[in-house]
Amino acid sequence: MKKHNFSAGPSVLARTVIEKTAEAVLDFNGTGLSVLEVSHRGKDFIAVMDETVELFREVLNVPEGYEVLFLHGGASLNFCMIPFNLLQKKAAYLETGTWAKKAIKEAKYFGQVDIVASSKDKNFSYIPRNFEIPSDADYFHITTNNTIFGTQIHEDIESPVPLVADMSSDICSRPMDVSRYGLIYGGAQKNLGPAGAGFVVVRKDILGKVERDIPSMLDYRIHIENCSMFNTPPCLPVFTIRETLKWIRDLGGLEKMQEVNARKAAMLYDVIDNSRVFLGTAEKESRSLMNVCFVMQDEFADLEAEFLTFAQSKGMIGIKGHRSVGGFRASIYNALPVESVQALIDVMSEFEDKKRKLIMQNNTIHK
Ligand SMILES: *Cc1c(COP(=O)(O)O)cnc(C)c1O
Repeated sequence: MKKHNFSAGPSVLARTVIEKTAEAVLDFNGTGLSVLEVSHRGKDFIAVMDETVELFREVLNVPEGYEVLFLHGGASLNFCMIPFNLLQKKAAYLETGTWAKKAIKEAKYFGQVDIVASSKDKNFSYIPRNFEIPSDADYFHITTNNTIFGTQIHEDIESPVPLVADMSSDICSRPMDVSRYGLIYGGAQKNLGPAGAGFVVVRKDILGKVERDIPSMLDYRIHIENCSMFNTPPCLPVFTIRETLKWIRDLGGLEKMQEVNARKAAMLYDVIDNSRVFLGTAEKESRSLMNVCFVMQDEFADLEAEFLTFAQSKGMIGIKGHRSVGGFRASIYNALPVESVQALIDVMSEFEDKKRKLIMQNNTIHK
């Protein structure tokens, strides 16, 4: 049976990307060696790192003055690296979910943290609006896509201070204006590659302004000087990220990604909005194009386990919602094919049909 992979992360990768990686694991560039066993200082691997950085710059249209890094530690190490490198006195954070809260916790070790707005009053089901960013903050931190709660900041906002963004789960999902940001970072394992690497795009002139000493491995400047090779980089993940970036470029770049992502999300949200059984959990204007969260409507809450089992029996993988939201979450990243979205929709409709009798009974009772 065909499997449809809606996992939140690590998550679906394009089939060709996986095949190219598998080939290089067996024979890297015709060297007769595996990419797993060659020196990161050899010319073949240096070329991989250089091309990955170049492709990332090309696909995201990264302007002059910015550096691109691929480092160990995923998104979470950056939660502390960012304040280590940037927080002298005070930082501002937007609290939009679990990952934002974790970033805030780390920043508090380094200085004052102002939470400019929060959506925790409604279990993070929306993106706060009309907040004011303090102009005396060292930076303003946002999470552009809230993977767990299924909300997303859809535009590149304007900030009077360097804008720092965790884009773990929506990097490369839409065209963006990198020049609006001071630093963009994330783990690779949602939209770019396997687990084991994080990406960082940083405007060089925001670094070097704090007075504290910074340990080498946590100092962005050290990694810039060494082109992400201060220590042994995550070689295999970087290889796979390169293949994903080629795949994105060859399909038509970020405009194309956005077009397909918008179509996939609209298909799924449309079904949820017109359902008698399912209910979306995020406020409409804040809905994520990457993670679609939904639950059973109250009167059908006891059907949740049954739907999950039914969907799994039809090849749907990874749709159980995070425990802090419950219900279901379909992660529909760049590499998730339209056919998989359609397959999930078919399963939802089939389930609803099966329950129609029950629904009709309920309707009668309501009358
Ligand atoms: C997955 C995720 C993280 C955590 O990434 P790690 O690489 O595991 O540290 C952080 N932020 C967001 C928005 C995520 O989706």
